Amino acid sequence: AHDGILRRQALRESAARTYARSLPIVPVRARGLTIEGADGRRYLDCLSGAGSLALGHNHPVVLDAIRRVLDSEAPLHALDLATPVKDAFVTELFATLPAGLAEHARIQFCGPAGTDAVEAALTLVRTATGRDGVLAFTGAYHGKTEGALAASGGARDVRVTRLPYPQDYRCPFGIGGPRGAELSARWTRSLLDDPHSGVPLPAGMIVEPVQGEGGVLPAPDAWLRAIREITADRSVPLIADEVQTGVGRTGTFWAVQHSGIVPDVMVLSKAVGGSLPLAVIVYHEDLDLWRPGAHAGTFRGNQLAMAAGAATLAYVRENGLAERAAVLGARMTGRLRRLAEEHPCVGDVRGRGLMIGVEIVDPEAGADAAPAPADTELARAVRRACLDRGLIVELGGRDGAVVRLLPPLTLTDEQAVAVLDRFADALAAAER
Ligand code: PMP
Repeated sequence: AHDGILRRQALRESAARTYARSLPIVPVRARGLTIEGADGRRYLDCLSGAGSLALGHNHPVVLDAIRRVLDSEAPLHALDLATPVKDAFVTELFATLPAGLAEHARIQFCGPAGTDAVEAALTLVRTATGRDGVLAFTGAYHGKTEGALAASGGARDVRVTRLPYPQDYRCPFGIGGPRGAELSARWTRSLLDDPHSGVPLPAGMIVEPVQGEGGVLPAPDAWLRAIREITADRSVPLIADEVQTGVGRTGTFWAVQHSGIVPDVMVLSKAVGGSLPLAVIVYHEDLDLWRPGAHAGTFRGNQLAMAAGAATLAYVRENGLAERAAVLGARMTGRLRRLAEEHPCVGDVRGRGLMIGVEIVDPEAGADAAPAPADTELARAVRRACLDRGLIVELGGRDGAVVRLLPPLTLTDEQAVAVLDRFADALAAAER
């Protein structure tokens, strides 16, 4: 069955398939960190549904929550109506929100994908401010829609202005470090204040506290505080896209909590749905100025996802899994950094909590090339060597040369060692 399914998929599914190309496996069973393929092979899954499985695959508390809804005969499709299941989800979610937002929070169900929630956030700030433009950052990833609203009647154009996202390793501006971050903030300030910048006061700014698809780039706390201050002073709502960083992944429940900033809007998806599709925005009540129907969608009330999400949020909170991610992440990056000393192809190891990136560079580049150029081919070979050793990882970053490790927050010490043993082995094999 295994080969036949893969063959038919290659023939029938679109050329835009991504994960299926890099991971030619046919998962049939999964539990926790482990996926079992139709060929009987077992894999350690450090992609975790593109970062959405906080508790790994099929966690018993998630399955129980889903079963309880199924057994209750509650409607599975409930549009955006009030239901007990939704009520419980919102209560659980609001209990986790950062202080400063929690007391004033409103929620809009979007959905079902993170992209929908990003769109909702942009529509919200544009409606609330009456302004059009949006500030975003180089290397950002917020989704793949283009034009659904723009193509609908009565839409306005969104104008996006890009600002440099600070980056220590291989900073595109050749600066990096605190000085690079300071210059990015200064650029932001002058763009907003200089009447000759050509950029009118925007409706909002959207930022990932740690860029994920962009190559696992944690934003410096001081920089986040600076852009929070700059936007607050000018009444520009700040949108934190926590689609990938949320629910304990980075070592705090929400990644904005590292810096202590309070965004005006948070975009949440992936792990908040407990492995089922769910996306919401949570925002300050003062912004709740849009009219009924300003953002809509047929599938905004997935009862199973809300139940799975509530169970996941509660489990992460009650079991201190964010703190656990911080400890385990530090240990794993520590070992990866030691590994980097033996492997010239590892240019950089970075991350926050269990959102870890390993940038693969050309091992042949001489010592005078600092840093060595990213090596996309070699990174692909590492990914392949990982898969051959039963370890699932994906790549990201502008050159597709950053190996991303997003294991479940339930990872045990022994599993962490097993993951890194396989990764070390794969590095050595790919380098040969
Ligand atoms: N924002 C961020 C930060 C993401 O990482 C992603 C998905 N990788 C999205 C938005 C889009 O989410 P979705 O794929 O569910 O539309």
